Amino acid sequence: MPELAEVLFYTRQWDAGMGQRIVRVLVHPSARVFRGGHVGQLAAGLTGKTYQRPFAHGKNMLFAFSGGHWLGGHLGMTGEMLAADPAHTPEKHDHLVLYTAAAALVYRDPRMFGHWRYEKGDEAPAWWRALPPEVLSRAFTLRHVQHILTRRARTPLKPLLLDQAFFPGIGNWMADEVLWQLRLHPSTPSGACDAAALRAAVQTITRTAVKTIGRDWSDPPRSWLFLHRWKAGGHCPRCHAALERGEFRGRTACWCPQCVLPNSALDRRVAPSRR
Ligand SMILES: [Zn+2]
Repeated sequence: MPELAEVLFYTRQWDAGMGQRIVRVLVHPSARVFRGGHVGQLAAGLTGKTYQRPFAHGKNMLFAFSGGHWLGGHLGMTGEMLAADPAHTPEKHDHLVLYTAAAALVYRDPRMFGHWRYEKGDEAPAWWRALPPEVLSRAFTLRHVQHILTRRARTPLKPLLLDQAFFPGIGNWMADEVLWQLRLHPSTPSGACDAAALRAAVQTITRTAVKTIGRDWSDPPRSWLFLHRWKAGGHCPRCHAALERGEFRGRTACWCPQCVLPNSALDRRVAPSRR
């Protein structure tokens, strides 16, 4: 499933049509990815409008068109945005194609777990404005992170990091990377985690992911868990131990059994906040 940096990369694929007028819209109105009251008006609404710019927020995307027209949503498991030749013939899973003189802007989604809404309004849709603070935003303060860890003190860190209400855009590989870099086991209770260290790891990993995957789909550093976690039999890039895999509250995780801090170290770390 695309995470924050992959989503950012996909929003930029439509740059090929930025500033261009939409001359024709092809839509599969029955595709279950389109929801909401205005979907029936999507084709008529966007025809003749100019594609202005994309926005990304966590795993969510928003595309702005002239005259206060908005297309927003997320990619689900298998969705992708791409730019094709202006003469593009839609393929089976191309549920939306916006034709401009410069490019055909395509939304492709074989499994249709994506979710899109078309809306009109002078400002971004209400659901977009209600999204929680992004991990690189000013609002993602140390206090904010402390508050999350206190509220969910008994939740294991892995599912907490995947909670989009708290860490928008963090998905499976980013959560594993954060935990591995902090040498924390995925089952560590969130209340035992140092908020400053967690915030720093989340933000550093996000910044690097945005500069690599988000920019041109290039790989993050080889020293990261990222390149070693995908297939069975991977080894920790730090200590070369065999990586382990498991499930925590229904979410799979990959970690290095050698690198994780012993529980006694965590107990010392958690002690001050219990006083
Ligand atoms: Zn290791």
